[in-house]
Amino acid sequence: MKWLALFLSVIALPAFGSEEIADQYPGSALYQKPVEFIPNVWSAIGATAPPTYENTGHNNNLSFIVTGDGVVVVNGGAAYVLAKALHEEIKKITDQPVKLVIDENGQGHAMLGNSYWADQNVPILAHVDAAAEFEEYGAQILAGMERYNRDKAEGTYLAGPTETFEDKYIIEMGDFRIEVLYLGPAHSPGDISVWLPEQSLVIAGDMAFHERMLPIFEHTYTADWLETWDNEFEALNATYVIPGHGHPTNMDQVRRYTRDYLIYLRGKIGEHLDAGGDLADAYYVDQSPFAHLDTFEELATRNAGRVYEQMEFE
Ligand SMILES: [Zn+2]
Repeated sequence: MKWLALFLSVIALPAFGSEEIADQYPGSALYQKPVEFIPNVWSAIGATAPPTYENTGHNNNLSFIVTGDGVVVVNGGAAYVLAKALHEEIKKITDQPVKLVIDENGQGHAMLGNSYWADQNVPILAHVDAAAEFEEYGAQILAGMERYNRDKAEGTYLAGPTETFEDKYIIEMGDFRIEVLYLGPAHSPGDISVWLPEQSLVIAGDMAFHERMLPIFEHTYTADWLETWDNEFEALNATYVIPGHGHPTNMDQVRRYTRDYLIYLRGKIGEHLDAGGDLADAYYVDQSPFAHLDTFEELATRNAGRVYEQMEFE
């Protein structure tokens, strides 16, 4: 059944889940209008669904901090038009210029919209591993986006970060201290979290998922992610969390749908392995406690297969 895992890893995701919910902000490329979650920290919450033409690929959170002396944006977004639409929203809120864009990792919905910001001469920061990922797979990521976004892909070109860091990058701007942190391996290479210590808010990136099932990619090592979560992410002791996906919330909630899901799935696969189970049946271990999450249909079986393949060698 190895072919099945391979097949599932290369086909485009089928269309189910919350993309049935109509766009929340007609007239803008953004899926939703940005909301101010705590004072001066805003987020345009993406669809908890796969990227589609209808949501323009806005299926992750595009956030920004109005510091008092400039704006810091978190995520380039999946396309030039999304970054431009976000900028239009920022300009309605403040005259302060955008001074920095931070990409949560090297995925398309983090970096493809960098092209817009590069055209505005705004510096773009990412982790060194995210930059390498985009360097290697950028062309393929761009082609994938062009397939679903068609005419909405217009203007988008490959623009990697202009600055990279390894462990920590501190920004003091206006009223904010902004700590851009690499906490360790999590969902994707070069995942970073943006920590506001004075506000006790973390813009978590793909470290933390909410409202939708997280995808376990080929390069997502669940054991490492859990270690990073327990040792580093929890240690921030954040009061507020803007997750990579889903509405802003708190640690209890993202813990349930990220860490606790990983532990649950690894537990089920562990039992399956102990019982001598094979990969073909591993896809169908019981994940019903998480069946209410968006993208469950697309991802649950695939996640189980990936965890089986990893745990086989642990
Ligand atoms: Zn993501």
